[in-house]
Amino acid sequence: MHLCRALPVNGELDIIIIGAGLIGLCTAGAVAARGLRVHVIEVHDGPCEGTSFSNSGMIHPSQAMSWDPEPLQTPDSTRARHDAAQVTARLAERSKTLLLDRIKSLGLPGRAPGCLQLYPDLNAARSAKTKYNEIGIKANILMNPKESFGLPACQFPDDSSGDARAFGCALAADLETRGVSFRYGAADLDVRKSDGKFVVRTSNGLASADHLVVAAGIGSVDCLARLGVRMQLNAVSGAAADFHRPEDDEDLPAVPIMDAQSRSALTVFEDRIRISGGWGLKTPGPLLERWRQIAPDLMQRLGHPYSEWFGFRPLSPVGRPYISRTSVPNLWVNTGHGHMGWTLCAGSGELLAQMIVDGHEDRRFVFSG
Ligand SMILES: Cc1cc2nc3c(=O)[nH]c(=O)nc-3n(C[C@H](O)[C@H](O)[C@H](O)COP(=O)(O)OP(=O)(O)OC[C@H]3O[C@@H](n4cnc5c(N)ncnc54)[C@H](O)[C@@H]3O)c2cc1C
Repeated sequence: MHLCRALPVNGELDIIIIGAGLIGLCTAGAVAARGLRVHVIEVHDGPCEGTSFSNSGMIHPSQAMSWDPEPLQTPDSTRARHDAAQVTARLAERSKTLLLDRIKSLGLPGRAPGCLQLYPDLNAARSAKTKYNEIGIKANILMNPKESFGLPACQFPDDSSGDARAFGCALAADLETRGVSFRYGAADLDVRKSDGKFVVRTSNGLASADHLVVAAGIGSVDCLARLGVRMQLNAVSGAAADFHRPEDDEDLPAVPIMDAQSRSALTVFEDRIRISGGWGLKTPGPLLERWRQIAPDLMQRLGHPYSEWFGFRPLSPVGRPYISRTSVPNLWVNTGHGHMGWTLCAGSGELLAQMIVDGHEDRRFVFSG
């Protein structure tokens, strides 16, 4: 890391952030804490209505390896994936600490540490453990009826969890009290650069600022294209089903349980149980089928879900997020977090704020466009 020109922190500079998902909100918080005036522009009528609406809640540095199911298998690309996983894991660890502190300061409930991942057999679990250990992730083998439904599992003691949408809503409300302004329901985005300022026009009016951060999840591609910047992001859908918590709930899993085969998780939140994930799914049906095989008794007790959802993970093709400047001066990006956006939100917001306001140059998450 080295220093380039830092911005004067005098409250005279404005910044617009496009997107009130987990990444935009955490970026807003980190920049506002450094004294800039922050405006957040969001097409939905409230925060966390996009991909951040219904995720599995896992704060899982353990899963920093890209989930891209069809990576190029050249020696160079394997090396690049490994490097990307390592830098993402380090950011995720830092992010977890910041996020857990923020969850606490917002008065949201704390949860038992850890996550589990189930495997079809012990050999698969052991070989996964070796791969995790190689990139510095702690993993233990565990297999018992109570914690892992009797299946072999890797246990990640350094992971955690929390309700991402509850966090996003609480954070947005807190930021409003600290002077961050939000413009919700802002459709038909048009953005230009004129006389060194970004001018953003939406159905909800006009705003201008010295700096612009695009943290619009999968919508980032269109936003950037309006300023002549080309970004490739893959939109990988995942689905979720929410169930009421059964009344006799003493034996429910205390930490989220992932299933390696379906890339999904079962998470017990304070007010619901969620089964979510999958790669390229627009309905949770196949996930529910799979969880009926893994945990038939629990699934029978849960009955039918009361709500279903799907959303698109913004996945960068380089196996790590883009937290970076762009070729347009004062235009920044914070996106491409794929399956890791809840885990990485606090750290990504802080890192981009350090770049924009403190002048730190950090090329680990560079976007070269
Ligand atoms: C099923 C599922 C389970 C997941 N589980 C986990 C998990 O357990 N742990 C984890 O770490 N991550 C998980 N993730 C990933 C995580 O949820 C995402 O990485 C994260 O939500 C992305 O946040 P974001 O702010 O980048 O995008 P979003 O939440 O989509 O926010 C972007 C915002 O920008 C707005 N926007 C877009 N275009 C415009 C425009 N033109 N004008 C104005 N506003 C615009 C959108 O409306 C949206 O609100 C999961 C994802 C899925 C789908």
